[in-house]
Amino acid sequence: MVKKSELLRVMGALILLMCSMPACSLVTSKPGDVANTVTVEERGVWLNRTEMFVPREKLLKLLDDLKEAHFTSVYVDVYFQGNVIYPDSRYLPEFPKVSEPDILTWLLPEIKKRGMRAEAWVEYGFYAFHTPDAGKTTDRGVFLNKYPELTAIADDGVTYLHNKEWGDFFSLCPANPKSHELLINVFTEILERYPFDGINLDRIRFPNEHFCYCNYCKGHFKSDTGLELKPYKEGMPEYRQWAEWRKEQLNRFMKSASAKFRSIRPGLTVSLSAIPPESIDSMGQGWDNWLKEGYIDAAMPMLYGDSNFNQRIMKLKTFPYWIEKIFPGLDAAGLKPEVILEQIKFAESQGAKGIVFWYSGKLEDDLPGLKSGPFAQPAVSPLGKK
Ligand SMILES: [Zn+2]
Repeated sequence: MVKKSELLRVMGALILLMCSMPACSLVTSKPGDVANTVTVEERGVWLNRTEMFVPREKLLKLLDDLKEAHFTSVYVDVYFQGNVIYPDSRYLPEFPKVSEPDILTWLLPEIKKRGMRAEAWVEYGFYAFHTPDAGKTTDRGVFLNKYPELTAIADDGVTYLHNKEWGDFFSLCPANPKSHELLINVFTEILERYPFDGINLDRIRFPNEHFCYCNYCKGHFKSDTGLELKPYKEGMPEYRQWAEWRKEQLNRFMKSASAKFRSIRPGLTVSLSAIPPESIDSMGQGWDNWLKEGYIDAAMPMLYGDSNFNQRIMKLKTFPYWIEKIFPGLDAAGLKPEVILEQIKFAESQGAKGIVFWYSGKLEDDLPGLKSGPFAQPAVSPLGKK
């Protein structure tokens, strides 16, 4: 027989041990109760606009499915292709194909009612305009029509980023303070108007290593470094200064943007759809530094596809706040459910305490495996308040 006092001592020790584990917090309803453990983990999904412009019942069913699979956060697509998803913005037009007026007024309460957090996912970031074929229209969207001098320019003079599958993307110059002001205005409006728990920034970057060669960038790079900016070439001698200079421009953006966002609502989370670690220099997005400086509360590096996944995770392990603030973004759109489960297993084996899925429209086949596997138990998000 084990004495009652001995049993209590062992239980006490066990509770203390569990409390000291980083993934667990202990919730007791009153002193002395045997506690339930609650997993603290981010389980997020990017809610793409394609899933938002469906009949309301269908969208609510998706939210029910997410709740049932113990998701903690939904990143709601609110800004894309030079539009916002809500009416009467002071800055940008409402997306013309919305299926219901002012969807956010009921969508956010529905997300929160299901115990999940809602973040405003500002999908397009510096990408101010999109068109399937730049040659067929002179429209460049509200911002670039008004301020053509803010258009980001490649080293060969082309003013957009061409994607074979998706068409042409026009970016604001990511270095110009006026571009910063325009974006911060829009994102502030979103946060002031709707009770999001956080903002998830995306495309806060240069389109690639060939941008930006606008007059602002050429002039300021020269006055800041004394160097003449030449077209990008692999191994160019001034590349290090160029990469650092570009990062510095976006550091400035992030510092003032997050200070502004946080001033709007206490407890607001500022997170980032981050580029994979190997692209930090080519896109000028020094998000490892943003974590270190506290400009962002969390980063979701988009580790899409299956190649180099494990190596990328090992690289991320060397970043500040790997466990607490870095939650890998997985490619549910492109990968089979069994591959996704393998990736989660590997990320968790290296300490990851969160995962975000790209994207809501491609999750259906993943949900059964999540529910019977890594998401079987409920979790609370480490991000902000619910
Ligand atoms: Zn520029």
